[in-house]
Amino acid sequence: MAGTAVRGRLSWQTATVGPVTDETAKVRTLRLEVPDWPGPSAGQHRAGQHVDIRLTADDGYQAERAYSIASAPGEPLAITVERLDDGEVSPYLTEEARAGDQLEVRGPIGGYFVWEPGSDSAGPLLLAAGGSGVVPLRAIVRERSRAGSSVPVRLLYSSRSWQDVIYSSELDFPPDGVRVIYTLTRSQPRLWQGYARRVDEQMLAEVAWPAADRPLAYVCGPTSFVESVAAGLVGLGYPAERVKTERFGATGQ
Ligand SMILES: Cc1cc2nc3c(=O)[nH]c(=O)nc-3n(C[C@H](O)[C@H](O)[C@H](O)COP(=O)(O)OP(=O)(O)OC[C@H]3O[C@@H](n4cnc5c(N)ncnc54)[C@H](O)[C@@H]3O)c2cc1C
Repeated sequence: MAGTAVRGRLSWQTATVGPVTDETAKVRTLRLEVPDWPGPSAGQHRAGQHVDIRLTADDGYQAERAYSIASAPGEPLAITVERLDDGEVSPYLTEEARAGDQLEVRGPIGGYFVWEPGSDSAGPLLLAAGGSGVVPLRAIVRERSRAGSSVPVRLLYSSRSWQDVIYSSELDFPPDGVRVIYTLTRSQPRLWQGYARRVDEQMLAEVAWPAADRPLAYVCGPTSFVESVAAGLVGLGYPAERVKTERFGATGQ
């Protein structure tokens, strides 16, 4: 039985694109309907996991990329994709994919960058996102609410500008116990009073829970963002094993 379940998770399945939602000018959320998605209910997964998406061109050329699951366990499977103008896969997902289209999906994948109620038993949660790195952290925040957890959360979210903030309508009204701290690295609205620079050690010292509180940190985004934030947290005394990281790829924030 266990072998069947593992094979099921790792094999490609056909997904039908459901409703799509524009989050920003470059970012879109796509619901994916997968008839044989593993678990007791459709969309069963753990907060923080990802899926692989595979596209096949008319000439048979295939491209696959990883995308974090944007929805909480028990919610319909959704991914949120940022368009890279010179990219192969993200322009299709953000501009061309329509409800009813089919693509292939494999997952859910990942057992390290996951949060479950109880995994924080020793302290509060620090979430740090660069750009679309907010996707799995949003799933964690939603799972916290869904599961009725009261663990205190701080989400430090770095975007280029206010127009680039993903899930802004959701994050502007966070649940009790969740505080969202933005930094806008390239441009800021008039009268902006928040941070206006890349995340640095001073910002982390101001925003992050003190190491003495035994926080658990999840850091996700472009590789350079993740590496500098993780190093900064370790510099503040966070044990490396309590700083979980997920790297999305090239470039900085
Ligand atoms: C575990 C995991 C989860 C991910 N989750 C998400 C997610 O939730 N949402 C999301 O939008 N992306 C996510 N990504 C990134 C995603 O897998 C692709 O790398 C991204 O969509 C670019 O693919 P592409 O085919 O459009 O671009 P490509 O054709 O692969 O690359 C085009 C150009 O962009 C550069 N590039 C590649 N990746 C990135 C990047 N992440 N940021 C900036 N430049 C890049 C390349 O160096 C190249 O120059 C995740 C990656 C990983 C490993």
